[in-house]
Amino acid sequence: MGYIKGKERGQSVLFPGTVDEYIGENNEVRAIAAFLGRLDFVKLRFVRGQAAGTGRPGYDPRLLMGLFLWGHLNGIRSSRKLERESHRNLEVIWLCENLRPDFKTIADFRKDNGAGIKGVVVEFRLWCLRAGLYGKEIVAVDGSKFKAVNSKERNFTKKKLSQIIARERAKISEYLEAVAVADETESEEPELSAAQLKEKIAGLERYLAEHEELERQLEATGESQVSLTDPEAKLMKTDKGSEVSYNVQTAVDSKHKLIAAYEVTNERNDLGQLAVMAFQAKEALQVAELTVLADGGYYEGNALKECEQAGITTFVSVPKSKEAERLGIFAQSQFRYDQEQDLYVCPQGEELHWTKTINDRERNKKFKVYATKACAQCPLRAQCTTSKYGRKIKRWVDQGVIDRLRERIRGQPELLKQRKTLAEHPFGTIKRGMNQGFFLLKGISKVTTETGLTVLSYNLKRVLNIMGVEQMISSLAKANPCSA
Ligand code: SF4
Repeated sequence: MGYIKGKERGQSVLFPGTVDEYIGENNEVRAIAAFLGRLDFVKLRFVRGQAAGTGRPGYDPRLLMGLFLWGHLNGIRSSRKLERESHRNLEVIWLCENLRPDFKTIADFRKDNGAGIKGVVVEFRLWCLRAGLYGKEIVAVDGSKFKAVNSKERNFTKKKLSQIIARERAKISEYLEAVAVADETESEEPELSAAQLKEKIAGLERYLAEHEELERQLEATGESQVSLTDPEAKLMKTDKGSEVSYNVQTAVDSKHKLIAAYEVTNERNDLGQLAVMAFQAKEALQVAELTVLADGGYYEGNALKECEQAGITTFVSVPKSKEAERLGIFAQSQFRYDQEQDLYVCPQGEELHWTKTINDRERNKKFKVYATKACAQCPLRAQCTTSKYGRKIKRWVDQGVIDRLRERIRGQPELLKQRKTLAEHPFGTIKRGMNQGFFLLKGISKVTTETGLTVLSYNLKRVLNIMGVEQMISSLAKANPCSA
């Protein structure tokens, strides 16, 4: 038995007469072209949104935007690779109308059109809203680290710098001693000659001067680390240990797991992002009320209070305080709060009354302090406090916000389970399915543009899975044109 026989390479074949005949009715490029075709690129503030009246004609931004969208859907983001595809890939040839922009034109388009690209992301979301694809009731907020264009070797924390500097100084001293010995003795075969040692010292001194300068910079700026390739990226903990990264935040709608809002920060953790993302999601979904789910990394009293005041119902995991466990004493949860009388009842049945209010400036919170004189004679004292003044209970003046949160979680514990599947779906798809777990550009502004393209391509992929190309195109045809 032989192999399946192909056609001779030199043999004439009859290909379809037009590129369009190669592109099936359900090909995603038709959806991309239909969506971009209804947008007003002038209103969206694209460079060359309006064709120039004179001079050499430029590329229609629709084509370049389409090229990037196709690339993101197919895991191809580099401008050089996109240029190559424009020469050989029939989908791209169809999408770009057989034009072949060079990689610099492609890269410049992304670099120069941050605002325009953001506008296209918004336009797609608005169309999805009108098409009823967002549930507009529940979103899950989550963050994930995306590797920046900066190796760990090109990032220096204060600790790392001081270790390097100490090592370099020690090595220089060692070489200086060796030079002195080499000058005085005449060993037949010295490991390194005095001249070689001096050369090494000169090299080390150059590195030392650079590292000392970085240390001075950190002192002057008050920063805790410096990245040399992408100064805005930070060393962060990731699932692979630690990497120089950005922290990408998303708010994911529960109906079809479409991303409603996104943000890129260089904060190393999610604390402080809850209100930002919840407010963005509420505005993006154009609703007066919204339920927001998040994990314990977002738990922060003031943010929860801000959300409550804005009509945002939060379900955020409440981290357990380990302080009482560490000290081996009763946890605060074992003290019952009596709201009517504003006092706590301790495990011994004694009442702890409000004694003073303290202002914690660092946490931007005021706390009421409760205590009882009964501690002095209490038989449970050893299990309750390590302080000679007796047990003190601190209560945030807006603790009601946390109590109501706990109450909500007790009533609907399933929502926090839903959070995990909701929030992790987009990041899993983006990082593994679409191979976009790292950035190609530098600086928050540019990586935000990259994230916009990623979010748009993810949302488009979801919509194509939900309704298919043909239905999407017919739905687009019925919708109003660009709202920008
Ligand atoms: S030490 Fe004070 S607060 Fe603790 S159980 Fe005894 S009386 Fe109550």
